[in-house]
Amino acid sequence: MATYTTTNPTTGTTEREFPGLDAEGVERVLDQSATAFPGWKDTPAEQRASILSKAADIYDSRKDELGRLIASEMGKPLQEAVDEAELAGAIFRWYSEHGPDLLEREELDPQGAAESVVQTRPIGSLVGVMPWNYPYYQAARFAAPNLMAGNTIILKHAEICAWSSEVMAEILHTAGVPEEAYINVFASKEQIADMIADPRVRGISLTGSERAGSSVAETAGRNLKKVVLELGGSDPLIVLDDADIDQVARTVAKARLSNTGQACNSPKRIIVPNRHVDSFVSTISAAFSQASVGDPTDPEVQVGPLSSVTARDNVVAQVQDAVEQGATLHTGGRSSDGPGAFMEPAVLTGVTPKMDAYSEEIFGPVAVVYGVDSVDEAVELANDVGFGLSGSVWSPDLDRAQQVADRLDVGMAYINEHGTTLPGLPFGGVKRSGFGRELGRWGMGEFVNTRLRRTA
Ligand code: NDP
Repeated sequence: MATYTTTNPTTGTTEREFPGLDAEGVERVLDQSATAFPGWKDTPAEQRASILSKAADIYDSRKDELGRLIASEMGKPLQEAVDEAELAGAIFRWYSEHGPDLLEREELDPQGAAESVVQTRPIGSLVGVMPWNYPYYQAARFAAPNLMAGNTIILKHAEICAWSSEVMAEILHTAGVPEEAYINVFASKEQIADMIADPRVRGISLTGSERAGSSVAETAGRNLKKVVLELGGSDPLIVLDDADIDQVARTVAKARLSNTGQACNSPKRIIVPNRHVDSFVSTISAAFSQASVGDPTDPEVQVGPLSSVTARDNVVAQVQDAVEQGATLHTGGRSSDGPGAFMEPAVLTGVTPKMDAYSEEIFGPVAVVYGVDSVDEAVELANDVGFGLSGSVWSPDLDRAQQVADRLDVGMAYINEHGTTLPGLPFGGVKRSGFGRELGRWGMGEFVNTRLRRTA
């Protein structure tokens, strides 16, 4: 029985322990989830929508407390943490407002029959495996559309955010989701593999690392289960030569430091015309070195700790390796003294294809800036990674920027912003960033039976 332990990354102290699922627990949970399905599926869509709407209200009314919880659990700066709780509420609200329409049957051209219709039906019990970096948002992205569709959920959140995962379950149950229709589990990886293999589970969604994604997808594939994967990214951000370099550099600094750089869709590779590299690097380095790093519950702090000392040490090692391999470090890159998982935000240039930092995802407050001589070179560099989550192009000339954005091999392309996520917009990637889509109508299309009924 694996115990989940949460450690405050600001202080390094263990906060709470959560007893893991025992062997009988796996069977119990699978049985409860499958048994709850028929009743939840047959609950009228409007009633499910009204329950999600109540969940949204609870997120709104408790957002300050929810924000404080994840600030202490995984180190997110307080205002960002409160904003995230609000966004999770907005996702539940979006599905409560649009869900019933999305589930309406669709009349097709009957093509010789009296009637051809498509009905959208839930498929059953699903397993969700979620990461610690946006605890509320990631879980809401999976839970809201699937509960709306009538599926039941077994949710395994990251060990780091065991506490908030319990609170999320409590919110949904208070709103009216039956206890067995949404079950939060503290399960081991082996127990998750057993659940995926069990015939009562019909689909799996994972957000996290490539390692976790391929392991879960392997088990799902062997058992012929549908899987959605939202994995890492090494997003390119292309600055065109007519952009306001200083302003873009300041905006990009803020975006890259958001969530202490621990976002799958953070702009990790910044591509700038060679003639502007020096001024861009000077502005972003100044912003990084001036950013206040510290206790995330202090409203003045912009950059919190990383999620754990191990995560921090990995990022610091990635920066050191890049420097040893010949890259230039302009600011930061060192672990901060003291017990927490803090590091100084870092800016690197001179990273070449031979260095690990060129192809690896750096999941922390590190900006890698590249110089290029042409737009073609920028696009080639942008697409020259295994990932394909999102990318952005910055220029006042919107037609030109859109043309460049259309050449990016990504799931989400932005112009003059990076990584915006809203409940009605699709979210997901291509290549090693995963497959499938979350949010909007696309998020409700993944784990449903798109069922044809044709009457001759
Ligand atoms: P992981 O992928 O290990 O964790 C994400 C979730 O997957 C957690 O719930 C974890 O559980 C679970 N998990 C891990 N391995 C398995 C498995 N074999 N079977 C079932 N569940 C599994 O991410 P890390 O926290 O280790 O972060 C490492 C890297 O992952 C980051 O550097 C980043 O590249 C990427 N990442 C990407 C995210 C994104 O938003 N796309 C989010 C988080 C990480 P447990 O916590 O119990 O180990």
